[in-house]
Amino acid sequence: MLKIFRGGVNTPHRKNTEESKTLVMDIPSRVIIPMVQHIGAPCTPTVKKGDLVKVGQVIGNSEAYVSAPVHASVSGTVTRVEPMLYASGKQVMSVEIQTDGNQDVDENIQPPVIHSRDDFLKALRNSGLVGLGGAGFPTHVKLNPPKDKSIEYLIINGAECEPYITSDYRELMENAHGVIKGIQLVLDMLGIPKAIIGVEDNKPKAIQLLTEKAAADNRISVKTLHSRYPQGAEKTLIYTVTGRKVPAGGKLPADVGCIVLNVNSVSFIASYIETGMPLIHKRVTVDGPVIKRPQNVLVPIGTSLRDLIDFCGGFQEKPFKILMGGPMMGIAQYSLDTSVIKNTNAILAFDKKEGDLPSESACIRCGRCVDACPMHLIPSDLNRLVMAGKYDELGAYHILDCIECGSCSYVCPAKRYLVQSIRIGKDAVRKNAKKA
Ligand code: SF4
Ligand code: SF4
Repeated sequence: MLKIFRGGVNTPHRKNTEESKTLVMDIPSRVIIPMVQHIGAPCTPTVKKGDLVKVGQVIGNSEAYVSAPVHASVSGTVTRVEPMLYASGKQVMSVEIQTDGNQDVDENIQPPVIHSRDDFLKALRNSGLVGLGGAGFPTHVKLNPPKDKSIEYLIINGAECEPYITSDYRELMENAHGVIKGIQLVLDMLGIPKAIIGVEDNKPKAIQLLTEKAAADNRISVKTLHSRYPQGAEKTLIYTVTGRKVPAGGKLPADVGCIVLNVNSVSFIASYIETGMPLIHKRVTVDGPVIKRPQNVLVPIGTSLRDLIDFCGGFQEKPFKILMGGPMMGIAQYSLDTSVIKNTNAILAFDKKEGDLPSESACIRCGRCVDACPMHLIPSDLNRLVMAGKYDELGAYHILDCIECGSCSYVCPAKRYLVQSIRIGKDAVRKNAKKA
């Protein structure tokens, strides 16, 4: 019996591209590959200007455990190694490659030899895999919980609850076999007894297909989830399918016997173990009212938003707002020179009518934001404290438990910029913690 999580909102689905079979993008003339595409330590470039590189070659790495190497998605010549514009708006160390169009593959690419769990985790690190659902947490770390945590459930996140985005859905429809194979590999290598695939009820074809494909393996079950945002957030998904609550205060899914992986992450694992080709492509949903040809595109990592949008026919009119990610959690882009990275799942472009933020007015203490918060926080109080600069008090209100889902902003009748202010507050709390 599925549980129903508290809070959340009903958003329009707008899955306009759900029937758009993935198109493979032409190789762009250049790519810019940032050294930070994950949570954890940034990579250091392992190539220099003038080097020739091949597809799949490591171009950045780090000694740190919580990190993941980055690889060339194209063959060609390294033309710049320096800080360049990143999706967050900051300048980040990046490698620019002028492509030669040959797509020569690095001779070192071969399927990893795996005899043990440790070999498996090492291979995943070498693959460059990070959470492809948006968070970008290195997968080899996620799959290696502390020894005292017994994992009972591998939960596969196929909820894809944000409006517009269909890149996970296309993976389920086009590669359900790979998804199941990846799940089986993780279950076998980590000795996890059960897997649950959670898919929202607005994707009946995917549910049927997965149910058929999983039928032969009684360790794997498919659960139909009620469509409600943010159903795909880790903690809400765990609660919905297992009834277990991940405690507040920095606890992890492993603390309640669960590991959550995105559908694209798990199918990539199957493909990597078979071919040895690291993470160099990403499927991206390109949509929004001003995109000429909304579609799903398989893109070399490092491709500029400009090249990707051109591949989709360009804009019908000048866009008012461009988001990397969905309308609830995406990051606004002020330049088309930023690149698709490992966890980019959508590029959306809006006109003024859909993209403009209304002006804020005073809080009317209606409590709707509190009802909508799936993390049981008090967004109105967090907003008030941040606006007053009372950062020292935010910890007591558990601000770091905010998953930045945007549900509070979505329902607020006063149009308070709640999630934006909470992000500022979280940054301040983290900076203060570092200083202490
Ligand atoms: S406070 Fe954070 S977790 Fe709660 S609804 Fe707002 S954005 Fe989501
Ligand atoms: S929903 Fe908006 S107006 Fe209502 S209490 Fe929250 S911040 Fe205030």
